[in-house]
Amino acid sequence: MKVVRRCLNCQSEFEANRFHPHDQEYCGRAECRRASACAARKKWRTAQCEKDADFRRKESTRLRLYRQAQRRRAAALCGLDPRSMLSGLRERLGELERSVLGLIAFLGGGRGRAQDAEGFLRRCRELFRDLETAELVV
Ligand SMILES: [Zn+2]
Repeated sequence: MKVVRRCLNCQSEFEANRFHPHDQEYCGRAECRRASACAARKKWRTAQCEKDADFRRKESTRLRLYRQAQRRRAAALCGLDPRSMLSGLRERLGELERSVLGLIAFLGGGRGRAQDAEGFLRRCRELFRDLETAELVV
């Protein structure tokens, strides 16, 4: 019996492998197989983190180093020093706050919208604070 499923990555329909029709969530395209392998590794790492404290510490270190490398790559692509990227982002965050609050006031968004915007801006400030406290080793 043929089982037709929808790929979790590309959303196209595919005929599942007849030996494992209920396990297959991705089609056979190369990018979907990569997405499947990535999802499987992520699921495995999450399960390991839940049951192994040592693995969780190593995973935390691995992710910190990976994020630092990503920031360095992003800075290099822009031809910037990571520290100057932070000061640029700080200025942009200030502009964003003034723009969002000014736009809400201009459009007469009322108290509810202003509170929604405050929540959003607070979250942006928290993310930026996390970014500032992260090590930016170049
Ligand atoms: Zn696919």
